[in-house]
Amino acid sequence: MTQIPRTNWSKSYHYGFRDCLMPFSREELQSTVATASRLKVLGSRHSFNAIADGDVAIVLGHMPLDPVIEADGGQVSIAGHATYGDLAAFLANHKLAVHNLASLPHISIAGAIATATHGSGDGNGNLATAVSGLEIVTADGKLLTTKRGDPDFDGMVVHLGALGVVTRVTLDTQPAFEVSQSVYEGLGWAALLDNLDAIMATGYSVSVFTAWGDTAGQVWVKSAEPSKPLPDEIFGATLAAVKRHPISGVDPENATDQLGARGLWSDRLSHFKMGFTPSNGDEIQSEFHVPRHHAAAAIEAVASIRKSFAHLAQVAEFRTVAADALWLSPQYKRDTLSMHFTWVRDQVAVETAVRLIEDALAPFDALPHWGKVFSRTPMGGRYPMIARFKQLRERLDPSGKFSNPWLEDVVFS
Ligand SMILES: Cc1cc2nc3c(=O)[nH]c(=O)nc-3n(C[C@H](O)[C@H](O)[C@H](O)COP(=O)(O)OP(=O)(O)OC[C@H]3O[C@@H](n4cnc5c(N)ncnc54)[C@H](O)[C@@H]3O)c2cc1C
Repeated sequence: MTQIPRTNWSKSYHYGFRDCLMPFSREELQSTVATASRLKVLGSRHSFNAIADGDVAIVLGHMPLDPVIEADGGQVSIAGHATYGDLAAFLANHKLAVHNLASLPHISIAGAIATATHGSGDGNGNLATAVSGLEIVTADGKLLTTKRGDPDFDGMVVHLGALGVVTRVTLDTQPAFEVSQSVYEGLGWAALLDNLDAIMATGYSVSVFTAWGDTAGQVWVKSAEPSKPLPDEIFGATLAAVKRHPISGVDPENATDQLGARGLWSDRLSHFKMGFTPSNGDEIQSEFHVPRHHAAAAIEAVASIRKSFAHLAQVAEFRTVAADALWLSPQYKRDTLSMHFTWVRDQVAVETAVRLIEDALAPFDALPHWGKVFSRTPMGGRYPMIARFKQLRERLDPSGKFSNPWLEDVVFS
């Protein structure tokens, strides 16, 4: 008998599933979906709230990945449940890349685009922006294929698990490229706030990590021009002489290579290596996206109350994400600064801290990461295209087969 998934990856959220189905083929999946009354697809279980919860789970792990290079190497298609690690291993054989990765390659592609998962980089859209085609088994068990440019395509990519089972994803590719990663330490708060745009522009993908102490912390620079020499210091932060983990005291072995060594995009754009535990494992996460023009003021507002929550934060990270046209993307028509928190695994205390941070960010038009912990709901009305998304859901899933209380409360109410 198939084991029923009980918790998310970090064991911070407990699912209420009473059954779990694991189809072996698309045909079997289609007939299962057609006859079921209620279903929830589970990806790699890396979300931190009830977005993936339900009565009956569908896990696609027995279905083939079948990666295929398309459009003369300009695109790749692969099963939705493939991880970015699976994708990168396949692309390596073809000397191809995708434009960016999240902090870890362990997450499923369909689950990541569901929640507008992102990496960093002033010019880099979130991971969903690379999607150029989708194959979805809709509530009636039929197969829907759609590509960029089709009506409603921009509403289907950040899908929140609400539209059906994403069985295949087509992604834009580019020639494989090299990246070097360097960590700078000792960045002061004033240096960060006064030079935020310049700091975030020092590389292809830049992250600022802070433990909310007296100094802001570290700058991680991922450069896609590895032959271009990096500065010895960035606004007073100096090059680390040894490899670092974002969380102080955690073994840096789990982190991708640093110290300026050049390597393949897929070995540097994530912070954490495939095959190793990402982050800490014993944690809860939250994240808030604010428009870029509010970035420094938003950081300052949260930093000013840091003494009220710093004891719960293992680390926090500031990244930048470029605007897009995807209806339920927090980057819909706005560049953002994204403020992430890795908390200790204490749900009650974290929820209190999250409310304080939401209050501090209230003047700055902040939108939460769909897959992490937040308290302000409903959120759907904050998205200009929500009415179109509701119509789309009504068309593809009129009986709410893929819905759950989280979707109804947070998105559709
Ligand atoms: C250690 C760690 C690091 C992280 N780093 C980042 C980061 O750098 N950037 C960032 O933005 N986020 C990050 N996240 C959050 C994570 O990327 C998101 O929560 C993402 O949604 C996880 O994908 P998943 O496959 O685990 O989805 P799940 O949590 O399993 O599911 C999320 C949603 O997707 C739906 N879904 C999944 N697969 C399918 C499918 N095939 N068809 C239809 N619906 C589906 C589910 O029903 C659910 O609604 C991180 C999380 C962890 C634990």
